[in-house]
Amino acid sequence: MPRKTNPALCATRGHLWKPVCRSRDYTVDHCARCPERRSRPPTPGEKASWKRWIKSKHPSEMHALSWAADAIVKEKSGYPAIVALERFAKKHPKRIFTAAVDDGANAGSSLTFITHEATRHNDTFDDHRAGEPQWHGVSVYYAPQCTGEKPTNFFLYPCDLYGLIETLQAVKKHMLTFPEVRREMNRHARWRRLDAKEKAEKCRKI
Ligand SMILES: [Zn+2]
Repeated sequence: MPRKTNPALCATRGHLWKPVCRSRDYTVDHCARCPERRSRPPTPGEKASWKRWIKSKHPSEMHALSWAADAIVKEKSGYPAIVALERFAKKHPKRIFTAAVDDGANAGSSLTFITHEATRHNDTFDDHRAGEPQWHGVSVYYAPQCTGEKPTNFFLYPCDLYGLIETLQAVKKHMLTFPEVRREMNRHARWRRLDAKEKAEKCRKI
């Protein structure tokens, strides 16, 4: 049934807010009378209910690495945040992946991909088959070095990860129509091959 709307009433009496989605840090309300939406910090009750919900839905190990990264970026920003995330990634090489990017000021920065997965299975979770490892998605942390902004993050469910890869492939295809980029990438590939050979040489000498 379509929602009844009455924006005129909102103009005189204010919006009639109803929560529609929630996270640990924000609750999103929509107005029951008009198309308005708002984000706000959760009430203590909502926060507690979200914690109960996430605990019942997934084992805590599913999100533990991402929560640890949240704690890192809450305290740090800029270069110290980049270094702290790199150190953290090195401790969990199977679950944390990194990529170099530049921030808006063209200073070297990073993307940190943290998987939400559970290796232990608890068969009380009704949405997964007993014994199967669970996959939830990937949190991507972006820590700019020189723009003065706090690090931020976003989340990718499997279909969003595929969509992002498809978009990047499309951008790459277009980029490679530029001769100067093709030349640069060829130089880069040659350098990478040389580097691998040099490493092999060193290994033989040991
Ligand atoms: Zn309204």
